[in-house]
Amino acid sequence: MAAHDPVEQKYVYDFAEGNKDLKDLLGGKGANLAEMTNLGLPVPPGFTITTEACKAYLTTGREPDGLAAQIEAHLESLEREMGRRLGDPDDPLLVSVRSGAKFSMPGMMETVLNVGLNDRSVVGLSNQAGGNDRFAWDSYRRLIQMFGKTVCEVPGEEFEHALDEIKRAKGTHNDLDLDADDLRGLVDAYKQIFAKHTGREFPQEPREQLDLAIRAVFDSWNAERAILYRRQERIPADLGTAVNVVTMVFGNLGPDSGTGVAFTRDPGSGAQGIYGDYLANAQGEDVVAGIRNTVPLQELEQLDKTSYDQLLGIMARLEEHYKDLCDIEFTIERGKLWMLQTRVGKRTAAAAFVIAGQLVDEGLIDLDEALHRVNGAQLAQLMFPRFQLDHEFEPVAKGIGASPGAASGKVVFTSARAVELAAEGESVILVRRETNPDDLNGMIAAKGILTSRGGKTSHAAVVARGMGKTCVSGADELEVNVPAKKFTVGDHVVNEGDVVSIDGTTGKVYLGEVPVMPSEVVQYFEGELDPENTDDALVRSVHRIMTHADAARRLRVRTNADTGADAARARRFGAEGIGLCRTEHMFLGDRRELVERLILASGEREREDALSALLPLQRADFIEIFREMDGLPVTVRLIDPPLHEFLPPLEQLAVNVAVAQERGEDVAKEEALLAAVRRMHEENPMLGLRGVRLGLVIPGLFAMQVRAIAEAAVAVVRDGGTACPEIMVPLVGAVQELETVRAEAERIIAEVVGDSGVEVLIGTMIEVPRAALTAGQIAEAAEFFSFGTNDLTQMGWGFSRDDVEGAFFWRYLELGIFGISPFESIDTDGVGRLVRIAAEEGRAARPGLKLGVCGEHGGDPDSVHFFHSVGLDYVSCSPFRVPVARLEAGRAAITTTGSDSR
Ligand code: ADP
Ligand code: MG
Ligand code: MG
Repeated sequence: MAAHDPVEQKYVYDFAEGNKDLKDLLGGKGANLAEMTNLGLPVPPGFTITTEACKAYLTTGREPDGLAAQIEAHLESLEREMGRRLGDPDDPLLVSVRSGAKFSMPGMMETVLNVGLNDRSVVGLSNQAGGNDRFAWDSYRRLIQMFGKTVCEVPGEEFEHALDEIKRAKGTHNDLDLDADDLRGLVDAYKQIFAKHTGREFPQEPREQLDLAIRAVFDSWNAERAILYRRQERIPADLGTAVNVVTMVFGNLGPDSGTGVAFTRDPGSGAQGIYGDYLANAQGEDVVAGIRNTVPLQELEQLDKTSYDQLLGIMARLEEHYKDLCDIEFTIERGKLWMLQTRVGKRTAAAAFVIAGQLVDEGLIDLDEALHRVNGAQLAQLMFPRFQLDHEFEPVAKGIGASPGAASGKVVFTSARAVELAAEGESVILVRRETNPDDLNGMIAAKGILTSRGGKTSHAAVVARGMGKTCVSGADELEVNVPAKKFTVGDHVVNEGDVVSIDGTTGKVYLGEVPVMPSEVVQYFEGELDPENTDDALVRSVHRIMTHADAARRLRVRTNADTGADAARARRFGAEGIGLCRTEHMFLGDRRELVERLILASGEREREDALSALLPLQRADFIEIFREMDGLPVTVRLIDPPLHEFLPPLEQLAVNVAVAQERGEDVAKEEALLAAVRRMHEENPMLGLRGVRLGLVIPGLFAMQVRAIAEAAVAVVRDGGTACPEIMVPLVGAVQELETVRAEAERIIAEVVGDSGVEVLIGTMIEVPRAALTAGQIAEAAEFFSFGTNDLTQMGWGFSRDDVEGAFFWRYLELGIFGISPFESIDTDGVGRLVRIAAEEGRAARPGLKLGVCGEHGGDPDSVHFFHSVGLDYVSCSPFRVPVARLEAGRAAITTTGSDSR
């Protein structure tokens, strides 16, 4: 191939040649170093080797043709610019070799500093520094340490032990107390460690050091921890990393030098101010490594006012340029400030909202951009109750925040024990090494789940998210011993019954009960906090962005609610109607007996009696809901689940009957019930007699519900209210089913409504794949479609939802068969295609056909964007998801050029 290619691929870019938009090619670090260089900021000169070179290396196992020569050319021009040659014994140029992928992968890949030092140039370096031997030997020992560890896989502890030993011999804990002779000795010790582990001497040839370091950075892309991290963060595996070769600047030249990190605002809260750490007389990683105590950045003002002022100026400039929170790394070499890195900084959910609001105030971005900068997942996070973390609570372990929320409870180690204690009213936390499908009951019973193994796609994580249950997975500091009913973490032993608290957002684990505080964002949605009149910056910003989202969005947002209380809450959360009012629960509780009579009815008379007894009860339910939703549409779904769900379980009934017979009691009624239950037993109830099928089989059932709905609407209107009922027929697969129901319903509605002015729409769910595929026909008989994406997913994939999530989804996620459960986020290729077909063909047959969705997908951010793009009129979701759906519907409607926010 290459032989036919007349133009050699460009693999190396000088910093002056790149810019911030070239992250794919130059990685985040390289692109931003180029951007800063071109802004005229003080960046040490250097060049970037592209991700393309890395990818070529990783696929072929060797550096691509032309790379070596291009590196040579760029190195030469760097040497010319600096007036020094790499590793020159008298006046050496030193460089760092730094990894940098498109998405930041903190601590996942490798960096080597001080490349170019050897036994001879260490003397040259000392001379450059005015005879500062200590500095030169300190730099050299750092090179051997980093090079050994990251390029040659020498165990890092060995170097650390050697360093500790010298400090101990010297009677100090502070590395600054080591003098040049100590460090020279340390270099010898390091070299021995190096030779022992690699079977060769530490390479003295500077160019060999450089090439090996570059190759090590390439290889670090496929290090195990990098692979794991990518999987967890859903970063594609084939991006590769760039390599930055940067002229060294030295923060370890003495007290007038140092190194630091800073944020342009607080990444935790978003508050404005100066957030950073500084460490004098130190190099690179020392700041974050906690080797010595850093000082707050503000103290730099006393140490070096000129550099401090310059730094603040640069930070302001960067914020203005990136129009966002930036984080930076810098070094001061003898009073001269150098910028070593910047990027748009990661932040918490709260900070994301606060900062977006501030940037609007500052005129840096508009409200569209602010809306683009936040997302529904962050908003959802802010709606969970949080732990009130005062001083006394220190986490004992940190795992992966696998399913958000804050949960405290007594530790249990088995599913059975979880069920037992929960039945006694205790809150329990189920602790396992990892969970498996047998733990399902325990997971349901527990307040939270804590595992010591597994990531975001482990069984525990997937199932917990599906249930909306708090979960921390992979807390690997925990030693879980199930047979002994205890776990140990550090010096602590936690036995069954001891209380722990887990934070499913941060992944932190605490001993004891941490008090929980409600979310101020929920208080705001509940109307308990006035956004115009609070000093809570988060609430103000959420309010402002929500208001903008509401103005921007085309999708309406309704809620799924079956009771007046749910309806009222959802309305406070901004719901614009009910998209799914289930009527199932209206058949439970003390109404069961009526339902049994209905099912057991031997003749028309008995059945009608049961139905007329149910009618006023249902009517009262609907009146309550219509009142709460006054003026807003309410979609009522006619009864859906299989009837046997309303009857006692077969086994229990059989035992009861047998026992009663034994005692010689009259069991005629029980026997009839048992016979009915036997008759109605289904192997696959989800695919059995339910929904419209039930309505067509039991005469009068749907008619009673339709009558109750119409009468309730009329009653509300007579009281001066407005009711807008929409009757929804579930599980329709063929237009004939709907036509049959419709004919009867229209007759009843006409009779009940009379001249009251009440209007009742009749439509259908689209949840059977056949309905989606024959939507053109079905639309003839439907005034609206509501996509039941749970069933559509279930039947589209052939998955029984109740079984598959616990049984094998974790494996599918692990294998990457899907990136996220199709019950969580709609499978746009398959199930989504059914939605699209039905929407298009339905609207073609009946222009203006109202289209909505009422699965839990209605509150899932990505799914909302999809439904927007398909042109639906509304989404409907549980009350707590309503704000998330409003926000995402707004985000879907705006177009911005905004940057990749990962
Ligand atoms: P990471 O991606 O883990 O932050 P970096 O490549 O940024 O790794 O480098 C690690 C540390 O070394 C940082 O503190 C950085 O500022 C420092 N460093 C990197 N290159 C140089 C250089 N040329 N001169 C001085 N310090 C450097
Ligand atoms: Mg860095
Ligand atoms: Mg359904």
